[in-house]
Amino acid sequence: MLSLTTLINNLIANASLLLVGLYLISRFTKLGFTNKLPIRRRITISILLAGLSMLITLHGVLWNAQADFQYGFIPLIISALYFGISGLRITYVTSIILLPFIVPGETLLIITLLDYSVAAGIAFLFLRRRERIKPTQDIRTVNMISLTCIALFSAFNMANYEEPSAYVITLIWFLFIGYATGLFLHIVYGGIRKIERSRRLITKYKEAAYTDTLTGLGNRRQFDEEMKRVDEEVFTSPHEIALLLIDIDHFKSVNDTYGHDAGDAILVELGQRLSGIARADDMVCRNGGEEFSVLLADCNLPQAISIANRYLTEVSKQPFQLPDEAMLDVTISIGVSSTSERKVITSAQLIKKADIGLYVAKRNGRNRIGKWNQRKAN
Ligand code: GH3
Ligand code: MG
Ligand code: MG
Repeated sequence: MLSLTTLINNLIANASLLLVGLYLISRFTKLGFTNKLPIRRRITISILLAGLSMLITLHGVLWNAQADFQYGFIPLIISALYFGISGLRITYVTSIILLPFIVPGETLLIITLLDYSVAAGIAFLFLRRRERIKPTQDIRTVNMISLTCIALFSAFNMANYEEPSAYVITLIWFLFIGYATGLFLHIVYGGIRKIERSRRLITKYKEAAYTDTLTGLGNRRQFDEEMKRVDEEVFTSPHEIALLLIDIDHFKSVNDTYGHDAGDAILVELGQRLSGIARADDMVCRNGGEEFSVLLADCNLPQAISIANRYLTEVSKQPFQLPDEAMLDVTISIGVSSTSERKVITSAQLIKKADIGLYVAKRNGRNRIGKWNQRKAN
């Protein structure tokens, strides 16, 4: 007969095995247990949960070859709450197929099957009756009901044991440690959920803070961040980058003639055309007003000039559509600079040179590109 201390230790070891197993399985996917996982992942995890059930059953606290105290039914509940009826079905069926290979003796097998079926049945009823399942909270309740039912079933059989009082003590400890485990899961999963939610919110707000609401492009803040990165990385790397500063020609008169809405529509379409040309590693931003920028990755000055000419053509070759369906010709001017130029060793110099280039393009008649070293010409 097991001493009380050994009994408690064994039950705690069984519960710990469950917690470690659940932790490892949930780490299998970065998202933890959630029904947002792709279907194949959900199936795999449901099967892994059945495997965990077997492991726990294998290390249960055997009592007189007539009862086996173990928490192998809890993964079934997890599978049901997180992956629904289909998850429960997979874990349950896999478990009952495997159980005969794990559990020695017919009586014990029937009792274990009964334990699993009780938990599965309660989880099933719970899924059916509740409109909205909140797994992190419901885990506590379903576990508690299952434990109580299993303990009650077990108590019916008590007369068959040699030492009923010891059996009662075992049952009480089984219940107590089982409840504590459910509570622990509830607290831990609840905490993980909160962390995940705040992480999602942070990402969302970050994206919003760096996005221009009109065009969906990066905004000024994004541009400044990129420039910081350029200072930190680009000047020490062998790769050149180039900057295009783009400004719509005579945009004020577009607004004055066709209205602010027409101006906005042009800004949106220009944003789309610019992103359409940009390569995956290039970064298009709306720096403010009718000024845009394109940071060209891996690009020296001659390459930047030919790319800038493509941007010019892409804008001027087709008129822009206004909200009233009218079409309007729009042109842009572009200032070009690159880290491949002499004396460009900071992002501020890169911007300054592109800015002078833009000024040159405007001065020389617009709808063209300009470089800083042309500033003295004419
Ligand atoms: P230039 O060819 O020299 O660039 O002339 P421009 O008229 O484009 O330049 P200017 O800087 O004088 O005018 C820019 C105009 O851009 C002024 C403003 O009405 C307009 N603008 C700035 N932001 C927005 C916006 O968000 N929506 C609209 N519709 N217009 C804007
Ligand atoms: Mg301007
Ligand atoms: Mg302008």
